[in-house]
Amino acid sequence: MITITCDVCKKKMDDQNKALFPYGNHSICEPCKDIFEIQVKDNVRKKDPFEFEWYRKLMLDTLDKAVQKGKF
Ligand SMILES: [Zn+2]
Repeated sequence: MITITCDVCKKKMDDQNKALFPYGNHSICEPCKDIFEIQVKDNVRKKDPFEFEWYRKLMLDTLDKAVQKGKF
C-alpha cells in the first residue's frame, strides 16, 4: 500500500483514498486545497489588473508558507 502525506497538515492517506492535489512541488489534501483556494481567491480579487505570472507566483508562495507553518 502506498501512503501519501499531505505536505501541509501532514495527514496520511493510503492509496484507497488519495484525494491529494499536486501544486508545484507539493501535494495537498482536499480540506487544505479548499482553504488554499479561498486564500488565493481573496488575493486575486484585490489584484487589478490580473497577471498570470503574478498569480502563479502567489500560488507557489502561499503554498510554500503553508508547508513551513504546517497550516494555511
Ligand atoms: Zn492537508
